[in-house]
Amino acid sequence: MNGYFDHNATTPLLPEARDAWVEASAKFWHNASSLYREGASVKRKLDEARERLATLLGCEAERIVFTSGATEANNALISSLAARLPAKASVLSSQMEHPSVREPLRIAFGGRIKMVRTLPECVIDQNDLAAQLADGNVGVMTMTAASNETGTLQPWQKVQALCAERGIPFHTDATQWIGKLPATELGQCSYITGSGHKFGGPKGVGFLVLRDESEALSFLRGGPQEEGRRAGTENYPAIEAMVVALETVTKALDVGVEQELLKGVFATQIVQQLPGTAVLGGALPCLWNTVMLVMPAHDQRKWVARMSQHGFQISTGAACSSRSEGASTLLHSIGLSAEQMQRVVRISGGWRTKLADWDGLLTAFLQVAAELGT
Ligand code: PMP
Repeated sequence: MNGYFDHNATTPLLPEARDAWVEASAKFWHNASSLYREGASVKRKLDEARERLATLLGCEAERIVFTSGATEANNALISSLAARLPAKASVLSSQMEHPSVREPLRIAFGGRIKMVRTLPECVIDQNDLAAQLADGNVGVMTMTAASNETGTLQPWQKVQALCAERGIPFHTDATQWIGKLPATELGQCSYITGSGHKFGGPKGVGFLVLRDESEALSFLRGGPQEEGRRAGTENYPAIEAMVVALETVTKALDVGVEQELLKGVFATQIVQQLPGTAVLGGALPCLWNTVMLVMPAHDQRKWVARMSQHGFQISTGAACSSRSEGASTLLHSIGLSAEQMQRVVRISGGWRTKLADWDGLLTAFLQVAAELGT
């Protein structure tokens, strides 16, 4: 039985990615900037990995900057845009952004942030979006492709088209989308963020896709790497392993259809068998692996701790904020009370989660409910 149901926080390293990392570390460990033949070989492998990632994302290889992950990519982009946009330009965003978008926005744009309204189904209100885009002062729009909390898919294709019509750059933090759903259309967005450890790659590696290859953006200085945009010796083994992981899961994207069914059965059963349980954002298209529940009683930490004792790893919500008291802006925006928010748990299965694992999860929930006297 595999009790790991927190894939939105991180995923186990795929065997294919681990093998790629070991091989790259053994054979291509030289510095890609070195002038001898071995250095040139690493540089060539790095360029190939960039080309392969570009194919997966439907963009030009020259637009890709490798980073340490999505947090770095989001921070780097937002600070750079804030410095380059006209002083009065506003930024349009959503209530479901990850803190690595929200926080840099708050610091860099402050009072110039505008938010698109969220509908109760945990998706942006497209009428409000159209009205806000028409105001003429929006310098950039940033919106996640899929919520890391409820898993609800956002209409990023429509947003991208609307922004493109008006010449407004559009950034999507696609960290939760990439690896779970087809990604080749993402390349049409001006900017994309992604992270290796969300789809079976290693931690500490990710990427930012820029609007075009000549974009003036430099966020780590002191070396020529990544066209001078991000100085520092490239982590080729991690980059190779990340690209192999994405190639591996992209070949098997159809697992999502079966996983969605398994998740759906689990969600229906838990709502039936534990009266008072509610599914958040379940009415609209959602990541095939994610379900967010409001439990009928008891604090989320109690559920997480007890489920862990039964061998199941679930989350209180966004893992990165689960140790802080900061309430979710998404759940707040759809009108959940502070008390309801304390009862929220997030379940996120994986590519290899089996029917028996979902069944075991349901049984464990029912046992914990009985233990807690729910
Ligand atoms: N954006 C989203 C939507 C995420 O889910 C996460 C990870 N929780 C991040 C950004 C941060 O990713 P990383 O761990 O690569 O910094």
